[in-house]
Amino acid sequence: TQLIKPRIREMISGELPEGLVKMLPKHWVRIGDVLIIPIRPELEPYKHRIAEVYAEVLGAKTVLRKGRIGGEFRETNYEILYGNDTVTIHIENGIRYKLDVARIMFSPANVKERVRMAEVAKPGELVVDMFAGIGHLSLPMAVHGKARVIAIEKSPYTFRFLVENIELNKVQDRMTAYNIDNRDFPGENIADRILMGYVVTTHEFIPKALSIAKDEAIIHYHNTVPERLMPDEPFRTFRNIAREHGYEAEKLNELVIKRYAPGVWHVVVDVRVFKK
Ligand code: SAM
Repeated sequence: TQLIKPRIREMISGELPEGLVKMLPKHWVRIGDVLIIPIRPELEPYKHRIAEVYAEVLGAKTVLRKGRIGGEFRETNYEILYGNDTVTIHIENGIRYKLDVARIMFSPANVKERVRMAEVAKPGELVVDMFAGIGHLSLPMAVHGKARVIAIEKSPYTFRFLVENIELNKVQDRMTAYNIDNRDFPGENIADRILMGYVVTTHEFIPKALSIAKDEAIIHYHNTVPERLMPDEPFRTFRNIAREHGYEAEKLNELVIKRYAPGVWHVVVDVRVFKK
């Protein structure tokens, strides 16, 4: 980046009013050969040309403008600034993730968690991923951890990529995908380990997770928490709901994934649950 930034500035500064040069994006995210850059409102009239220059200097086929992630399916709504093909294959930790970057979230800040999940999975155990996305967390468990995985994804669009990724990573023998709402998943008392990689309303899914869990299981419970409630939350809520459903819960580990909003953090708690 030390050499890239002066190069970008050199290419474009003559085309921008002087005061705007310092507003050029200083950070970007690359997913496969797609680039995501933040564009300040002041740069609106120049956004396409800026994107073209970033694409050229950084060698990307498509450039998107960073935007919001929202809704039940956690979809992105990134505006295309340059190029037109937003589908790419991103390689991370030996895993091939195919996705449409303009519509499906892939957070660079979650990389540690994707790597960690590859390490915690054990050969032969049954993992149920209740919010699979494109296989963000569960592909590493099947590929590196040799775990068996049931991956549940509600969005039909995201599901298509999940199925492709299972094939791309050659784990068809260990990984099965369902395009349903996880609350409609029929399996009971089957999982050694459950992934709850979701935010904001994850606690609503705890009773379903417990019904999928074996009498003893590990649950990786993600949620978003206001800073003032940490570190007791979100484990306290989890344990209360577990007790109402006949399970005891023990906190094994807690990690902060990233800042979600001002004063709100995305955290993951590893919980061991067992039938009382
Ligand atoms: N778990 C991955 C991670 O943490 O990186 C992917 C997270 S992504 C934000 C959550 C996914 O859960 C989305 O693809 C969304 O469509 C899916 N989802 C949301 N509600 C669901 C439900 N009730 N049943 C199954 N999938 C659901």
